[in-house]
Amino acid sequence: MGIAETVAQVKSGAVKADFLFEQKLALIASRYTEIHAFNHVMADEARAAAVAVDEAVARGDDPGPLAGVTVALKDNMCTRGVPTTCSSKILEGWRPPYDGTVVSTLKTSGAIAIGKTNLDEFAMGSSTENSAFGPTRNPLDTNRVPGGSSGGSAASVAAGFSDVALGSDTGGSIRQPAALCGVVGVKPTYGYVSRYGLVAFASSLDQIGPFTTSVADAALMLDVIGGHDPLDSTSIPQAHPSLVDVLGQGVEGLRIGRITDLPEGADPDVQERLEVAFDALRAQGATIVDVQVPAFTFGLTAYYLIAPAEASSNLARYDGVRYGLRVEAADTNAMYGATREAGFGDEVKRRIMLGTYALSAGYYDAYYGKALKVRRLIHDDFDRAYQQADVLLTPTSPSVAFEIGSKGDNPLAMYLCDTYTIPTNLAGHPGMSVPYGTGAHGLPVGVQVLAGTLQEPTMFRVAASLERSLA
Ligand code: GLN
Repeated sequence: MGIAETVAQVKSGAVKADFLFEQKLALIASRYTEIHAFNHVMADEARAAAVAVDEAVARGDDPGPLAGVTVALKDNMCTRGVPTTCSSKILEGWRPPYDGTVVSTLKTSGAIAIGKTNLDEFAMGSSTENSAFGPTRNPLDTNRVPGGSSGGSAASVAAGFSDVALGSDTGGSIRQPAALCGVVGVKPTYGYVSRYGLVAFASSLDQIGPFTTSVADAALMLDVIGGHDPLDSTSIPQAHPSLVDVLGQGVEGLRIGRITDLPEGADPDVQERLEVAFDALRAQGATIVDVQVPAFTFGLTAYYLIAPAEASSNLARYDGVRYGLRVEAADTNAMYGATREAGFGDEVKRRIMLGTYALSAGYYDAYYGKALKVRRLIHDDFDRAYQQADVLLTPTSPSVAFEIGSKGDNPLAMYLCDTYTIPTNLAGHPGMSVPYGTGAHGLPVGVQVLAGTLQEPTMFRVAASLERSLA
């Protein structure tokens, strides 16, 4: 059942939001430690919210466009009075004094926020193994990773713990786990969804988006959470057209770009599904065009200078004074050092060191400055490509879900997971992963649909057509 049907049933009084919520809670409890999708389940708050929805229905009030829909929140989104850890020891015990905009929007829309999901510490990683609280397991094969960094959110939707979830995507952290868990994941245009109350990793790249089991559910979620927010100065100051309305429009006449210079490295099973996707769109009336996007070759390099640079600055605030953990020491400077040494994990420390190096006086121009120029060129590359094609189709991830521990001691191998997702973040463009059958070991493969700035309607038309071609 899609969330639109859930909302209709709850609104009509045919089903109680409280009943649906208790079902989810029981399911979460039955696989809680096995999957470890959640850092914290908001059982009391969620129950109260579900009862409030049912009471509104009984009174004849409108309970909102997401009435009774259970949603899991990545644990880097601020929730008032509820622990928000970013899966880091440095934030242990911190309870934000306010809700992020997406969280308050969901609440006023009648959605039931059911818990905070596990992630790679501060969203740095591609497997959710970098969590200070232990890894999340892929519900489809618990020896394998769910992807990352929003692995807990992807796993929650794949396991049916929540109807939908929210994640954040800085270099692929919604799309890659969506692909590995067989669900839909969307990174909207930068500024489409408010970042107010999202703990910053790399502010010029971070964007919030949904995980869902269908393209229609993702469209409805974005229709609700998208739009201008005066509290986020980078949010786009305009309303967005409805995505739910375009889903049936098909792909007749659209030009679908096949990237001829895409970096190699995708496994044959993944390649094969991409070819099937091209064929399906062609059969529905689209034209396949060849385009070149050299940006894909340079994305990773530019990203691993820009994202750590921004992270090193954003993470300077965790000093033992204002948030969470404090390790006492002889003087203030020693306290800062001891707190950060104990509070941050290895990957976060690696990024902070990379970032401070890239920003240091002697290397700023050579590294950070140059990466910004490359970013500009990547943006221009995409603009040229979008003159020839309405959307681009690529694999989301080079492989299906890999085994837990298999890339743990090789940061570069982990970084390569994001080859196909990162360039879009640098350009600020939207992208989404659509589950498209299975590959090796019977595990899901995701196809990525990319589009230009604010071309979400076209991207969703293609995604919906791909989904229909599987039905
Ligand atoms: N895996 C990438 C990284 O480690 C992207 C993370 C993200 O999108 N948050 O930086």
